[in-house]
Amino acid sequence: MTCDLLAPLADRLTSGAGLEVYNPGDGTLIATVGICDETELAQMIVAADHARSDWARRTAQERADLLRRWHALVLEHLEELAEIVTLESGKPLAEARSEVRYGAGFIEWFAEEGKRAYGEIIPSHHSGKRLLTLRQPVGTCAAITPWNFPVAMITRKVAPALAAGCSMVVKPAEATPLSALFLELLAHRAGIPVGLFAVAPTTDPAMAGRVFCTHPLVRKLSFTGSTRVGKILMAQAAHQITRLSLELGGNAPFLVFDDADLDVAADAVLVAKFRNAGQTCVCANRILVQDSVHDAFVEKLVARVARLKAGDGRLAETDIGPLIDAGAARRVGDLVRRAVELGAEVRCGGTGAGGAFLDPTVLTGVHAGMPIVQSEIFGPVAPVMRFTDEAEAIALANATPYGLAAYMFARDMGRVWRVMEALECGMVAVNDGALSTEVAPFGGIKQSGLGREGSRHGLAEYLDIKYAMLGALGT
Ligand code: ADP
Repeated sequence: MTCDLLAPLADRLTSGAGLEVYNPGDGTLIATVGICDETELAQMIVAADHARSDWARRTAQERADLLRRWHALVLEHLEELAEIVTLESGKPLAEARSEVRYGAGFIEWFAEEGKRAYGEIIPSHHSGKRLLTLRQPVGTCAAITPWNFPVAMITRKVAPALAAGCSMVVKPAEATPLSALFLELLAHRAGIPVGLFAVAPTTDPAMAGRVFCTHPLVRKLSFTGSTRVGKILMAQAAHQITRLSLELGGNAPFLVFDDADLDVAADAVLVAKFRNAGQTCVCANRILVQDSVHDAFVEKLVARVARLKAGDGRLAETDIGPLIDAGAARRVGDLVRRAVELGAEVRCGGTGAGGAFLDPTVLTGVHAGMPIVQSEIFGPVAPVMRFTDEAEAIALANATPYGLAAYMFARDMGRVWRVMEALECGMVAVNDGALSTEVAPFGGIKQSGLGREGSRHGLAEYLDIKYAMLGALGT
């Protein structure tokens, strides 16, 4: 089955040395991908820059036509792409299918939004002068993407870049280059020029980061990944003031107040915490529950989580696939063990089938001093903490260097507004567990990053403002 699935990528695979891609479910080798070295990466940047001039001269409508064709091809090949995503990332097929639809959504949305890159006419400060702004593509761009959404994290960068008139070279995550190569293939089949959008797999991500930040033709780098690597890239970008978008780690609080609908909140944990086995940057990392409803909420939560089934992502009954590799499962398992040593209680889960598997887990009796609430868990573990009042909830929620997403459950409108405004983060979901959509701005504050993806703000990341002043016009 794998052979048929990967047949279209045959010329990107190798029987020799290269980037080995493994199935996290059973540890088997799926394929070995050909890689590019420093010289080849630099050549791809030059080719992207070359392709860009013609692309930027086309009308937004012409660019949109090709993007829409790409969008249609992605949907036409939804099933194959989803199978590849499941094969290399482990996520359940149903989630992989939603990711492909979500990822395709960015292509369609930005195809349209590219037509609306309006400038402005500014009322003049002087009678003989006229002031206006143009919005122009920033130029040749690069992206470094993670393995947790191997399709969507690429389309949400590439689609706005191309729609704006930029070119883009993408270095995909080492664990998931096959989805990226399949997307690239479909883009080229759609008529998007070869070279304008290119995928560059490598086994040396640090080299790619260095080249992207120091190559004189790269005007912008968009990165999604850890705060640790984001800091390295930000320091390197200082070299030539490369424009950056950074979508980094999170430590999302999930606040349940005493006036919340506890069933709605417990259902939302399944989405906000357990989607993709807890491996998303907006995953609820700390479940904070008001004292008076703590026990009732925990009971509802445990009943739901205990029903989730961990297993091979290719099986229809699986809710929770493997983590990305066995090392990730060990790291998350260690966080659980350390929490238990410090007084937490395992209410369900806590172990796993071995390898990359970990059963969905709920911990209670968790407190702010435990490593499990200070670090980004990136696994299917929900640590529950208590709070007494609004002020304590806000203080606990904000007690982190991260500021990506937050979730809050309450029905009092005054409380909803007060807490929503006080939370230090880029995104808040009120009475819901799912935030992400191509039509809204996704991004963080504090050490969760810079810039926004999705929505018209996501297009602006790939446009420079040029101010023009026309003088000597007479009065
Ligand atoms: P994670 O821990 O989720 O894998 P990383 O930040 O390590 O997060 O990885 C996200 C992306 O960053 C991947 O594509 C990875 O290859 C890349 N990466 C890792 N180290 C570096 C580096 N030093 N410079 C540039 N990119 C890097």
